[in-house]
Amino acid sequence: MTARLGRALAALCLVTLLVASGGAVRAQDGQGTPPATAPATSPPAANTTTIHVVQRGENLFRIAQRYGTTIEAIAQANGLRDVTQLQIGQRLLIPNVAPNAPDAPPGTVPGSPIEYVVQPGDSLLNLSLRYGTPIAAIARQNNIVNPARLYVGLSLALKEGSNPQAEIKTGWLHVVQADDNLYRIAARYHLSMARLAKANNLKRTSVVFPGQPLVIPGGDDGPALVDVPEPFAQIAMLPAPAEQGRTFTLHLSTQSPVRLTGTFMQRALVVHSDESRTHYTILFGVNSFADPGIYPLDLVATDDQGRQTELARPVQVADGGYASETIQLPPDQSDLLDPKVTGPEMDKIARVVSNYTAQRYFDGPFGLPCPAPVTSQYGTRRSYDGGPYDQFHTGTDFAGAPGSPIYAPAAGVVVMAERLHVRGNATIIDHGWGVYTGYWHQAEIKVKVGDIVKPGQIIGLVGDTGRATGPHLHWELFVGGVQVDPLQWARQNFS
Ligand SMILES: [Zn+2]
Repeated sequence: MTARLGRALAALCLVTLLVASGGAVRAQDGQGTPPATAPATSPPAANTTTIHVVQRGENLFRIAQRYGTTIEAIAQANGLRDVTQLQIGQRLLIPNVAPNAPDAPPGTVPGSPIEYVVQPGDSLLNLSLRYGTPIAAIARQNNIVNPARLYVGLSLALKEGSNPQAEIKTGWLHVVQADDNLYRIAARYHLSMARLAKANNLKRTSVVFPGQPLVIPGGDDGPALVDVPEPFAQIAMLPAPAEQGRTFTLHLSTQSPVRLTGTFMQRALVVHSDESRTHYTILFGVNSFADPGIYPLDLVATDDQGRQTELARPVQVADGGYASETIQLPPDQSDLLDPKVTGPEMDKIARVVSNYTAQRYFDGPFGLPCPAPVTSQYGTRRSYDGGPYDQFHTGTDFAGAPGSPIYAPAAGVVVMAERLHVRGNATIIDHGWGVYTGYWHQAEIKVKVGDIVKPGQIIGLVGDTGRATGPHLHWELFVGGVQVDPLQWARQNFS
């Protein structure tokens, strides 16, 4: 065990698996739908070389997608000259590619690392945007535990351009049809061939395959969708693609007032409308264990005469790139795996965070609640006592010193402030629009239910109350009752 991992484990939120297990929070979201996906039962596969035997109906795109590699990599490894000609029974060498590593997304060729010296005004966010590399990947490559503590002169290894899709502000997917080619698809969306090819890390001469999803890039003012039926006017999605365990937002406008409803991943969408009923915002929290893939987004606009217009678009949900860890529970904590111990408290929290407040209190990106190193990231897949990797860390842990202040990251109303058995001194803030944040294991709670909090206000002190192995703040964020990555809300403006 490395020193770094040891430090993280020293202050683990053992309690957090309990919300993850059984999907109780999801079941409490008012729609009663079961989770759409099964939990992962094994850790991410190590790098391997594999032989694939071509089956009827397969093409190189599907095979590449299945193994998390690229058409080009398979073609090169097997000396294929014509990637459209595969024989049933043909054996293909699948090259050694780490599936879905966040710094090597499928279809991209990472550049070689360069050395970068941090300048005044730099942050991991703007470096991430400039170099097209996820913040988590920069932090991991450089062993940065506290992204807030970048200092001028620090030397970082950065991989330039490892993720060309990071520069796409909005985007939709087009699923390639039987008679499609890149030229026709570009023309359909009023895009240049170069722009379409670049957004998908393809060459202009690349062959595309039926079933292959292509990102249709957009701009700040919305994607260049020309095939939305009236009364729909424009749809923008941010970020694109959506990711496991992260939040995405849809901004829609219509040409005339309508009532908008919809579903995605078997959940009814919560639609926020402005007074004109022509501009709409949808926030959606993707389950951390959702299977990566393509899911239909179904929207229905109903006008004042009761006429309905349907709009269905495929939306990609990408792998969240989460790490895995194995945890041995101390003997006196092993009852944390017992639902009888944990269920009632979990149900109580689920009830609170599944309420919906139509008013939006938050404005702009969230601040961080604790100026301390992050010791455990949201989303890490966890196996307890040698069991399956069917749990995940449901929040972000900060190694704040005992008694150090906890700040409200955004405006909101306190809806829970009490001592819980497992989570210790616990506070939940309602930020409106179905967004809640939770603060567990506090030494002291400095607010009470009904308090209106401002961003930056001290709401409590870091502690180790409840079932914690050491002082730390566990920070959790819920969107529509689903626990999502809180740090994304510090990077992206969802208001
Ligand atoms: Zn935690």
